[in-house]
Amino acid sequence: MQALRADTEIQFVRGVGPRRAEWFAKAGVRTVGDLLEYFPSRYEPAQGGVPIGELRPGAHAAVIGDVIRTRGRDGSLLVDISDGMDDLRLRWFQATRAAGLLKRGMRVCASGRVTVFGDRLEMVQPDTTVLSPDEPPPALAAGAKLIGVYPGNGLLKPALVRRTIETILVQPHVPTAAVLPAELVKRRGLLARDAALRAMHEPRNAEEQAQARRSLAYEELLLVELGMALRRRRLGETAAGQKLLCTPEIDRRIRARFPFPLTKAQDGALREIVRDLRSGRGMTRLLQGDVGSGKTVVALYACLLAVANRKQAAIMAPTEILAQQHFQSIEKYLAGSRVRRALLRGGAAGRRERGETLAAIERGEMDLLVGTQALIQKDVIFADLALVVVDEQHKFGVLQRHEFRGKGGRPHYLVMTATPIPRTLAMTVFGDLDVSLIRGSPPGRGRIVTRVTPGSRWTDVLKFARGRIEAGEQAYVVCPQIGEEEPKESHAADGEVAGASGPTEPRRRSGASRESDGGARAGARREVRTALEVWRELTEGAWKGLRVGLLHGGLKPEQTRRVLSEFSSGELQAIVCTTVVEVGIDVPAATLMIVDHAERYGLSQLHQLRGRVGRGSRDSLCVLVNRGQAAAIEGGTPAAERLAVLARTTNGFEIAEADLQLRGPGQLLGTRQHGLPELRVASLATDEELTEQAREDAFAIVAADPRLADPVHAALRSALRRMFAGRLALIDAA
Ligand code: ADP
Ligand code: MG
Repeated sequence: MQALRADTEIQFVRGVGPRRAEWFAKAGVRTVGDLLEYFPSRYEPAQGGVPIGELRPGAHAAVIGDVIRTRGRDGSLLVDISDGMDDLRLRWFQATRAAGLLKRGMRVCASGRVTVFGDRLEMVQPDTTVLSPDEPPPALAAGAKLIGVYPGNGLLKPALVRRTIETILVQPHVPTAAVLPAELVKRRGLLARDAALRAMHEPRNAEEQAQARRSLAYEELLLVELGMALRRRRLGETAAGQKLLCTPEIDRRIRARFPFPLTKAQDGALREIVRDLRSGRGMTRLLQGDVGSGKTVVALYACLLAVANRKQAAIMAPTEILAQQHFQSIEKYLAGSRVRRALLRGGAAGRRERGETLAAIERGEMDLLVGTQALIQKDVIFADLALVVVDEQHKFGVLQRHEFRGKGGRPHYLVMTATPIPRTLAMTVFGDLDVSLIRGSPPGRGRIVTRVTPGSRWTDVLKFARGRIEAGEQAYVVCPQIGEEEPKESHAADGEVAGASGPTEPRRRSGASRESDGGARAGARREVRTALEVWRELTEGAWKGLRVGLLHGGLKPEQTRRVLSEFSSGELQAIVCTTVVEVGIDVPAATLMIVDHAERYGLSQLHQLRGRVGRGSRDSLCVLVNRGQAAAIEGGTPAAERLAVLARTTNGFEIAEADLQLRGPGQLLGTRQHGLPELRVASLATDEELTEQAREDAFAIVAADPRLADPVHAALRSALRRMFAGRLALIDAA
């Protein structure tokens, strides 16, 4: 038989042929190399792996041996086999047809229960398979103790995959070429690629399988990190940033704008940012910090530094409301300053002022600009844009982040995210960014107590909340974002939020209810009330006489502004709202939050929502109302698990980790393409240490050999090209 190569088409492997090759193709397997990377979904103890000498009475086992003697009498049959070291007697009281065919010299695999007869071991009524003696025994007989069980698909049966893999692996060499430089394999204690592939399919034991998995996962992660390192390097080269000076005088003047001293954590992040801004190299930095940790203040400092250097800065927010909020808080800090600033609004309201504002931006008569995606429209031309701050970056998707480049000046780039990103994601999906962390919150914040409660207690919750509101507290009541009150266009902005932060944003039109865990609930059409309906219920019932506002994505910006400012000033004691409050809204006096249908939201989204309370010095209460099935409340379902995580901790990093474990990276990031190739082996949920090692190695490789031109990197280079398949112009541009 001709040796199989990695690029041999699967149809030419013995036992496959053109028809079965089509079944393989449906599973994405076209070549021998593809099949070697089609990994088992689990493992089972191997049949035939046990030497006869190791058999134990009472156990079920399978052995392989050559028939040395057969004796039959009165329908019963004795067959002795030997594996070269030891003998075993097979006994049939009633000879089966298969057993009757056994002849001396045949190689046979026998499986059954091991018993003791006299002083020797026997197998009674075993199943037997005759193995052809002129072919090598299955590789598993050569010592594998575990065999893979493969995912199939309709036509492609796991057994066919298994057999085909065996046909490939009985060859003396695994048809694959090394990808990793030998030095790395050695230093990181990995298996060579061929050994790792063999061990993934036919491990001798669980440790070997684990080592194989680790080796192949490392390879994947190294390639991803190489991609990041190359992209980072390219950004650094092309986007040589403007040098921004920070004198003690400038620093003093900026700090004087804030009515509080910055915290240690804020100062730490600022030191890193300022170092970037004055370096002359373009900054691409992720500023991570929990809700309310004080990121906006840090970002504003950076903007003011740009302005002090007579350059322009822009802050981009994911929704109109958040852009407004940013602008308002900036107004607060900048009252009386000479910084020329504007809110660039989208929609009809924005159109009137827009022309003037745009002209001012282009003439350089505007210093600081706040807005939504409207900021990156083509007609916005900056005279000298030095810094772009993007809030809630992961809700935009990665691709958008380069669109500012080339828009007048070469802006530095600061990305703020309030949903802490698990380390592995920060290192991979956002791996081309530097990361600054703000841990903890400004001093003097109250605690947030979180309670999960079933929908049946809704009335009690409202009654209890009423007592606290009458005692002077302010409350949010959050409803799922549904209903006719919201015209279509409002979904555009809020849809960004929904799309990225959870699979759970219900978009019900009329009656079709979607369960948050993704499964449509057949026949169980549940009543989900709109914010408007809940507002009516409250103001006519449990909260009659209280001043309750209504806020949702369908309001005109002026209406929204009014509701928010009335809530801020305390004129409104409560607001019923949709998830428009999820991001950024800052009303420190609000200490009560009730989330209806909490089971419909993702973890990160609930964490964001909850971040709207606990911003002042008083303790806050967050009540998560779970209207899922009864079982969901007793525990065990993903919704109940999510809510339990929130009740347990307010630490955003813990929540992000839990979210990653529960949902996996794809869901966590939303359905958008994040430029992250599919990982077959590595797990971003569990391979944190391995990701770190791979990142360290990848960045070192690119630092030493930015074009991967060294022959020892040739294999990496072509594997990288395969992995990113044209999605990143990385290496070709490098
Ligand atoms: P984030 O953007 O991370 O959610 P913000 O920057 O909006 O946080 O700050 C949240 C709240 O904390 C705001 O009301 C802000 O005025 C306040 N704050 C920020 N930094 C400090 C500080 N160093 N000391 C006291 N309060 C602060
Ligand atoms: Mg903020």
